[in-house]
Amino acid sequence: MCGIVGYVGPRDVVGVLLDGLRRLEYRGYDSAGVAVVNGGRVLGSKRVGKLANLEEVLVKTPLHGSAGIGHTRWATHGRPSDTNAHPHLDCKGRIAVIHNGIIENHAALRASLVKKGHTFASETDTEVVAHLLEDLYTGDLVAAVRETLKAVSGAYALGVLCADAPDQLVFARNGASPLIIGLGDGETFVASDIPAILNYTRRELIVQEGEVVVVTRDGATISTFNGAHVQREITNINWDVRSAEKGGFKHFMLKEMYEQPKVVKDTLVGRLRTDGSIDLSELGLSESRLRSLHKISIFACGSAFYAAAYGMYLIRQLAKLPVELELASEFRYSEPVLDKNTLAIAVSQSGETADTLEAVRIAKEGGASLLAVTNVVGSALARTADATLFMQAGPEIGVAATKTFTAQCVDMALFAMHLARVRGTIDSGTLDGLGQALRDLPSFVDQALNVNDEVVPVARRIAPASTMLYLGRHVNFPIALEGALKLKEISYIHAEGYAAGEMKHGPIALLDASVPVVVLATKGPVQEKILSNMAEAKARDSRIIAVANPHDDMAIENADVVFTVPETHHLIQPIVNVVPLYLLAYHIADHKGCDVDQPRNLAKTVTVE
Ligand code: GLU
Repeated sequence: MCGIVGYVGPRDVVGVLLDGLRRLEYRGYDSAGVAVVNGGRVLGSKRVGKLANLEEVLVKTPLHGSAGIGHTRWATHGRPSDTNAHPHLDCKGRIAVIHNGIIENHAALRASLVKKGHTFASETDTEVVAHLLEDLYTGDLVAAVRETLKAVSGAYALGVLCADAPDQLVFARNGASPLIIGLGDGETFVASDIPAILNYTRRELIVQEGEVVVVTRDGATISTFNGAHVQREITNINWDVRSAEKGGFKHFMLKEMYEQPKVVKDTLVGRLRTDGSIDLSELGLSESRLRSLHKISIFACGSAFYAAAYGMYLIRQLAKLPVELELASEFRYSEPVLDKNTLAIAVSQSGETADTLEAVRIAKEGGASLLAVTNVVGSALARTADATLFMQAGPEIGVAATKTFTAQCVDMALFAMHLARVRGTIDSGTLDGLGQALRDLPSFVDQALNVNDEVVPVARRIAPASTMLYLGRHVNFPIALEGALKLKEISYIHAEGYAAGEMKHGPIALLDASVPVVVLATKGPVQEKILSNMAEAKARDSRIIAVANPHDDMAIENADVVFTVPETHHLIQPIVNVVPLYLLAYHIADHKGCDVDQPRNLAKTVTVE
């Protein structure tokens, strides 16, 4: 996890580093720190807590230099504190290191370095890298980095600067820790993620696993750990800078929720033809390959897992294929049975989620082909996959996913429809109906956002609750799970998403007047069933908040509050239904004064296991 940045060039180095860190803070906010080279010395500053704490120090005691590195931490080894904050220094204070990830053999390395006389200042795994470098440095920083990499194991992105090299930074990447180099004119930028450098340049080199990068004002040279030169093509990023900023909204999360109609539209562009048919030729998965499949295996983590679950229902129902769904963190240890007739689908917003990448490795070893659903071009997942369905969601800064979940669901729906058509398992009437529903979707998601003003007072009333239940059935079950997860993540209220039919097997015991129950009660084949579950909850005095279609008296009857959303095809309806659940979680969290964009203990991209 964490965000790292680097800069070599004529601008105010610390200013550039702080600007980058600000845009990366969603990746970790336990502490922040910077180090620069100045007049043959390394100067640094670091503070526990949010970036603002560091900024305050730097206003009072400014730092200047010719090259610098910066870090926002998501602690894995050692609690958040000033001393555990990065950068970490060697004993002489001449080498500074920032690190994203985990050095797995840190304990043994630390023990042997201490034996050699090194003194450690922090409890982190990272600090061993600084001392190893000190041990191995004989005047050539790059050579010392290469030697150090031989000694460390684990997943990391590392950034190093040295007092002797005023215009040079060295970075290395191993495993799922993204690293991007931004090429400017006489200046070079480094960051864990694109938005951090979008203001300066759009010409980027994407560093891959097992690579070392030497960064100077004139650009970057990439090589393998063994020193073989790597020629990397420049990627031109077309993301809009403004879309990575708050644009007048109180929080990124709120802004990103309001971007959902556009994201849905962008995700459909070029894929949904005006006649409602689907064109996924971009995938490069041949029709004969799709017809030969015996099974689909989908895995993901967090919100992406719920989008994957939605996809499972659609693929099974429309393409009549067996679908296995598993959390990536479980899949990797579950000895899955796969073969060449299996298509594995990995869903990950960042394309860098460590558990998902490991599951991908296992799926490929098992002989499966891999379809990636991700938002990030050039991500590890996109590079590994045989085919990729991009989400077109743009940068998502709020730690809690919203618009990327919506986009993932759209991708899953498109793929299920495509697969069903190719396999001949869907009649043209159903396909047309679904195509029409997708065409309507941007506008329906937009209309669903109109409930915002009604959500605010309801959120205020509910905010004191300590537990909430979210109920859905069939395709709305993953939406119930996603709604509950969002509430937990940003408001710290305990919530459970449940398949409504399971209520009677346990969770109904939780219900009384203090437990609000959110019910996804829109029209569809299981609506009567869910309305019975709603009545059962009402009979236990729970306050019922229903998401329902307009003028649906049956759904409205037992509800205390109804958020109405436009009616569409029941298989597409969940993508509309999630909107009020996001607004509800957001306004509850905001009312409670929670840090919506950067909830405690979380980080956006989980690049550790
Ligand atoms: N493992 C390192 C630490 O705990 C780096 C964590 C990170 O990626 O922020 O300091």
